Amino acid sequence: MAQYTPMIQQYLSIKAQYPDAFLFFRLGDFYEMFFSDAEKASEELEITLTSRDGGKERVPMCGVPYHSAHTYVEKLIEKGYKVAICEQVENPAAAKGVVKREVVRVITPGTIMEENMLVDQENNFLVTITGSGSTVALAAVDLSTGECHVTELDGSGNFVLDEIASYQPKEVVLDELLTQEKNLIHKVQTRIKALQTLFTYSRSDTETEQELASQFPDFAQVCTTPLLKRVLGILVTYLQQTQKRSLSHLQRLRRYDARQYMMLDDAAKRNLELTVTLGEGKKRGSLLWLLDRTATAMGSRLLKRWLDKPLLNMEKIYERQEVVEAFIADFLLLDDVKDYLKQVYDLERLAARISFGSANARDLNALKRSLQVIPRLKEKLILTSCPRLQQLGEEMDACPDITELIEQAIVDEPPVSVKEGGMIREGYDQKLDEYHSIQKDGKTWITQLEQRERAATGIKSLKVGYNRVFGYYIEITKSNLRLLPEGRYQRKQTLANAERFVTAELKEREQLILTAAEKSVDLEYELFTQVREQVSNQVNRIQSLAERVAELDVLHAFAIIARQYQYVRPALHSGDRIFIEAGRHPVVEAVSDDETFIANDAELDATKRQILLITGPNMAGKSTYMRQVALITILSQIGSFVPARQAEVAIVDRIFTRIGAADDLIGGRSTFMVEMAETCHALKEATPRSLILLDEVGRGTSTYDGMALAHAIVEYIHDHIGCKTLFSTHYHELTELEDKLDRLVNIHAHCIERNGKVVFLHRMMPGGADRSYGIHVAELAGLPQPVIERAKELLSELEGRLQQAASASPGQLSLFDWGPPQEKVVVKEVGLSEEEKQALEAIRSWDLLNKTPFESIQLLFELQQKL
Ligand code: ADP
Repeated sequence: MAQYTPMIQQYLSIKAQYPDAFLFFRLGDFYEMFFSDAEKASEELEITLTSRDGGKERVPMCGVPYHSAHTYVEKLIEKGYKVAICEQVENPAAAKGVVKREVVRVITPGTIMEENMLVDQENNFLVTITGSGSTVALAAVDLSTGECHVTELDGSGNFVLDEIASYQPKEVVLDELLTQEKNLIHKVQTRIKALQTLFTYSRSDTETEQELASQFPDFAQVCTTPLLKRVLGILVTYLQQTQKRSLSHLQRLRRYDARQYMMLDDAAKRNLELTVTLGEGKKRGSLLWLLDRTATAMGSRLLKRWLDKPLLNMEKIYERQEVVEAFIADFLLLDDVKDYLKQVYDLERLAARISFGSANARDLNALKRSLQVIPRLKEKLILTSCPRLQQLGEEMDACPDITELIEQAIVDEPPVSVKEGGMIREGYDQKLDEYHSIQKDGKTWITQLEQRERAATGIKSLKVGYNRVFGYYIEITKSNLRLLPEGRYQRKQTLANAERFVTAELKEREQLILTAAEKSVDLEYELFTQVREQVSNQVNRIQSLAERVAELDVLHAFAIIARQYQYVRPALHSGDRIFIEAGRHPVVEAVSDDETFIANDAELDATKRQILLITGPNMAGKSTYMRQVALITILSQIGSFVPARQAEVAIVDRIFTRIGAADDLIGGRSTFMVEMAETCHALKEATPRSLILLDEVGRGTSTYDGMALAHAIVEYIHDHIGCKTLFSTHYHELTELEDKLDRLVNIHAHCIERNGKVVFLHRMMPGGADRSYGIHVAELAGLPQPVIERAKELLSELEGRLQQAASASPGQLSLFDWGPPQEKVVVKEVGLSEEEKQALEAIRSWDLLNKTPFESIQLLFELQQKL
């Protein structure tokens, strides 16, 4: 170490404290990086790698200019790195030896506050976890909005993973003690895609409690268990170590119990496309996208949280519905409130930036303008006849003291920078006004001087000017120099056709003006930060106002959607019946170009219609129908109205889904494994109050395997779980289960054949589908005609043989009468040879829609060769 230059030694000792971050080391107008940081940064940021004499050796170096550093920081953070900003903390001119430097903040993906790096409509969560295999405590914080949620979860199964995933965190901080929980930590590390840090926590219990009590006003009431204290302790310490400043806007601490809400695991959220679509993972096309008619960013973020956690508490749902209804009933109210909401800026993030010390004068004005809207909004709400709206209005604090303070202190159009003056209004501070008047008087004095000197010298073109290098000067053109009395002025600068002069009097006045200008800029900054701090002391009031505005905004958005698409208020109850008359899929309906969406009824209950077994060809609308039932349930439980003519919805505690083929490539599991894992999860966790959607379970394996599994799963749900289930299948044989299971009912997606082609009606009808339209669907998909013709031939041949076999041994055809010994007998009696059985099997399991015509022809060719 000693062989390095003192500056590199300083660098190395600071870097040793931040091994997992890029160290941006301030050197004059640059942030420099050295050694491996420099090598890595030059690659990641595509900037030139150079080197510098480090004493012992030349050390790799690269740097970014101070004024544009934020774009580089942004790039690194987006790539999931941390950046430690190390500043010079003493005046270089006054420093003895190496200038003192300190890390002033570590920017990490989960702690960004910068407006341009955040998405308005999205939270930016950092999640911390600690605990043991049986209980895990989780804390999720969004520093940019100042909210903090804590909970304790069952550490077994996937609860922890699902809960972490629901926050879509940018960063996860794991208690180092968790490394003992190999299973859990492995799952988190492999399945959660966010920057992860293992954190060693060493504060004592007493210290933790003191620290937390000073951070969160209601800490003692909220955090009653050692695990919750520990998880919050880790969180706050991590934030302190990275942010290195007071976090006074972080006061809102909410404890919740995941069981208070409808549980939606990650698979269900994905499959139902609640916040992003399955295919491209985009917001567009998701339920959130459809519903998000919010006017404020706070509303948009709250809506997403509501969708993540639908309610179970009927009273709360009812309260939300009442507001939606009140809005729908009063068109003018709906419009007025929208106008007001549109004028409210992102109060949560403004408040956070104000407390964090990164807000500028324009932010304060944005806050003022938002607050100025509140009194009128309040009044509107209080005058309605809806109790919850009245309450929201009454609880809204317009913070008139804050508005007044900002109004008095800040000019209407301040600059972006807080270091250049021009922010503080005249009359706010006497001293500042004095400086301003010195500047202003000085300028008048100079104009007068110009006139005086013109008169004294008789030079009409004499003028007084100013530049940065020489300050104020008197300029006289060369042709007029002869008129100038000797010794009157002191020569300062010679130009091509003029000379510039100064006088002692002018210099003295200049000094006054410049000092006043400099002092006023400093004073303005000081006054501005005082105002900002005063506002910051009221941050909790702004935050609670923000919460109310957000709630109002979401309910208002529900009303807009309900009006636009003619949604109805669902009747919620604690019974067991779900009855949806003429229900529609909210998103599919909204994106259909013309009004072609076909509405369908759905009826499920615990006594007669627990399981709906849905048959029908591919593309007939089965999974749309299943999703629509789930989405209507979710919409009902977040307090929204629903796309139906009428709906009666029993509260559902969990929704499980197994829909579509979502390969878990990263987890390294095949489609069939994912399918079985998701099904298994549903079978283990479902209660009688749950809703299960199973779409074509078993298609991932061979026909007999698949059918056997599907059969067994349906039976198990019927006999052992008793929860409402929608089960779609292409195994027509399963329709026979209706006779065996009391609470299973067949329905089918009705199709008709017209001119030899299948027409999908998208209408659900009672009973099972009578035949497979697979070949017709293949035809629609454009499979070559010879293949289609041959397939039709093969099909009728097979059907013929099956019929023959059936008449030869009546009563034996049903594939459901299989017991282990009979299985072979059935197949034998059907009368197929081993080759024929294999051919049949190959055709059955052939995934036509996902194969190229050539692959299908090849299969047919191979089959022909065998038969
Ligand atoms: P399946 O699950 O039976 O294969 P899908 O539910 O995927 O069928 O639906 C196939 C297509 O039909 C989808 O693209 C969807 O847009 C359309 N569709 C489904 N249900 C309806 C409906 N009720 N009205 C109009 N179009 C529908």
